[in-house]
Amino acid sequence: MLATHAFAAQNATSPLGPFNFERRDPGNKDVVIDILYCGVCHSDLHQIRDEWGGSIFPMVPGHEIVGRVTRVGSGVKGFKTGDIAGVGCFVDSCRVCPSCKAGLEQYCEQGMTGTYNSYERDGKTPTYGGYSTQIVVDEAYVLHIPAGLPLEGVAPLLCAGITTYSPLKEWKVGKGHKLGVLGLGGLGHMAVKLGASFGAEVTMLSSSPSKEADAKRLGAHQFALTSDEKGLAKFKNYFDFIIDTVSAPHSLPFYLQLLNRDGTIILVGAPPAPHQLPGFDILLKRRRVAGSLIGGIKETQEMLDYCGKNKIVSDVEVIPIQDINKAYERMLKGDVKYRFVIDIASLKK
Ligand code: NAP
Ligand code: ZN
Repeated sequence: MLATHAFAAQNATSPLGPFNFERRDPGNKDVVIDILYCGVCHSDLHQIRDEWGGSIFPMVPGHEIVGRVTRVGSGVKGFKTGDIAGVGCFVDSCRVCPSCKAGLEQYCEQGMTGTYNSYERDGKTPTYGGYSTQIVVDEAYVLHIPAGLPLEGVAPLLCAGITTYSPLKEWKVGKGHKLGVLGLGGLGHMAVKLGASFGAEVTMLSSSPSKEADAKRLGAHQFALTSDEKGLAKFKNYFDFIIDTVSAPHSLPFYLQLLNRDGTIILVGAPPAPHQLPGFDILLKRRRVAGSLIGGIKETQEMLDYCGKNKIVSDVEVIPIQDINKAYERMLKGDVKYRFVIDIASLKK
């Protein structure tokens, strides 16, 4: 077994603190990764506070993982010692259902195995995430990291990047489209970068006036303050797509009215409480409400290669693990620029 240091939450109200556990010895198909950086996703916060229900404790969060391969099983073909590798939101799935066969493992009909807050396929071994010194993952669920990108900026691509890339691709958002991005945090800033890179006209819809200059620097063509009703009036019936990344409860009807005929709001944010959905706001303009969950392994690799080619990474604030609880407090206030990333070296001291 591989002795592993980590930070964990012991229950839904405790702060994260040091936790030691053992990873399995690598099997035939397994890759052992010495973790260098792990991004901090708002989903980590929802889950350690048990906001979605069913949380498994102790919990070692983290699903935006980048590191160096230190060992591979004898049957591993795609990775070798020394490679830089990534792990995202899941580490296994049933592999045989139609979704898995289509490369959409995130929609596995048996349920994917989450990188943390989940159980291995045996249904009883808990999974522990990337706020830890190393991880052991079947190579079929490990990503190749393109060369030439700063690794701390790559880590958030494994969740925030793919979660926004996948729906933009699915709905073919690009040139000629007006895209609204709701919420400028980890997901939102990747939606701005990717949407602009695909050629869409991007408007940042934010509750924070202080983020306007950054939104434009990240690639947004316009900025609108969601609290400014007058300013928003000009965006009524305007957008072809809105990608909604907001983590807290908010009014969907309000934003539905900003969609044009046949416009689509894509929900990626996962607030704990259900949305209100008045039929009239949808049917009067044949609008659509859609959702999207991360992305499959094949598409995640495609996204990483795209980001490698186009030099797209996340804007990050690197923190030692000891600052994680403070970072969560800032995240709750929307004070994220635009992803916290843990330098895992701070766990190894
Ligand atoms: P984040 O970095 O905290 O960003 C969320 C942003 O939402 C904030 O920066 C803020 O932007 C806005 N916001 C927060 N509270 C708000 C409120 N009360 N009213 C209006 N706006 C508010 O979070 P994240 O990591 O990007 O994650 C966003 C959400 O997506 C979370 O719920 C997370 O669980 C979910 N998620 C879903 C998937 C998926 O596969 N679908 C994957 C990853 C994460 P402004 O300051 O600009 O308003
Ligand atoms: Zn995430």
